[in-house]
Amino acid sequence: MVATYFPSPHSYTTEDVVEIGAHGSPAGLREIVRSAVAAGARLAERGEFTFRAYLGGRIDLVQAEAVADLVDSVTPLQARVAFDQLEGTLTRAIGALDARLFDLVAKLEASIDFPDEGFHFVGAAEVVAALNEVRGGILRLLGSARMGRLVREGRQVAIVGKPNVGKSSLFNWLVGADRAIVTSVPGTTRDLLRESVDFEGVRLSLVDTAGIREVLDEVEREGVERARRAPAAADVVFVVLDASREVSVEDRDVLARTAAVRRVVVVNKTDLPRAWNRNLVREIEGDAVVEISLATGAGLPALRAATLGALEVDGALIDDPMVTNIRHEALLGLALASIERAMSGLETRGERLNEELMLADLAGARRAFEEVVGTRTPDDVLRAIFERFCIGK
Ligand code: GDP
Repeated sequence: MVATYFPSPHSYTTEDVVEIGAHGSPAGLREIVRSAVAAGARLAERGEFTFRAYLGGRIDLVQAEAVADLVDSVTPLQARVAFDQLEGTLTRAIGALDARLFDLVAKLEASIDFPDEGFHFVGAAEVVAALNEVRGGILRLLGSARMGRLVREGRQVAIVGKPNVGKSSLFNWLVGADRAIVTSVPGTTRDLLRESVDFEGVRLSLVDTAGIREVLDEVEREGVERARRAPAAADVVFVVLDASREVSVEDRDVLARTAAVRRVVVVNKTDLPRAWNRNLVREIEGDAVVEISLATGAGLPALRAATLGALEVDGALIDDPMVTNIRHEALLGLALASIERAMSGLETRGERLNEELMLADLAGARRAFEEVVGTRTPDDVLRAIFERFCIGK
């Protein structure tokens, strides 16, 4: 057993902390916890250590949330984005925008404080320039949110097609050649298909075929309105067809059912003598159709490109500070609305500056920024955030 003492403020929580490390015998560990509790300690709440670190000012709220994301991360890209946020990249991006507003607020307030001199510490043109800059910064962050959500939440994917067309082979390809999975044991496929896989950094959750059947049945029954909601169950559907066989009723049925869902039509087994003729398949007019052979690897680069396209992966955005959190996205939306209100106010008053009105809008934007990083966040929001954590974090 090793006990390590971290005197305040040099600990995770900034308080005095003693960490006890011990070998993994459950009985031994229980005894250590029991003795500690008998001596007056209590068990930590979920996320309590991180909450205390936040209260102690060691980390801000974005960083605290990143701790939970890091613990939950499945793909290396998810981990990297969470780690970036833990390092403070998003906090710094928001801080820079807030600093710009702070500067503007100071000048506007000075103009109000010295009214008699009739002197404005800042002119309308400078205000517009600053607001435009902040607006652009918020829009960039919001633009990253779509990619951010993709990184964080991944995509639900389904593979459909009649038996023996190559669905399991496609699944293995998505999983990655180095981790090919043998599905010859009956009953294993279902479990494996529930697995999340990492495809180019994006977490794909495979919806099993039974699940997608139900969704598609509903699509059929309830028409277009349902169809629009169907992607919630599967964001992207791979429809697999067999190039060595004639198009069958089953193929047409699957194609008709998936017509309203974002899909990648995969024609597999192009290495075999062809019986398939695209011109005879009315159901795929307008679809991107990828012809491949999972046996020989022909066409796989095109399948990769089509898959990334269907997943809406935009590689260019991956290196920016990324908004991955809906809470952050919503608050940035509020900040944007305040900035735009300030800008339109300036326009309608014909470029004449009304400092008070301007200050009210800027205060709204700054409040939203502060709520993101946690300098001003309601208690119930804090509670909800830290309830996500596991015990001991
Ligand atoms: P599933 O029933 O739709 O899941 O299809 P599988 O992935 O299990 O594949 C069915 C059979 O087709 C297996 O024997 C595969 O080895 C074979 N297969 C899969 N893809 C190809 C291909 O591109 N070319 C050829 N010739 N055979 C393939």
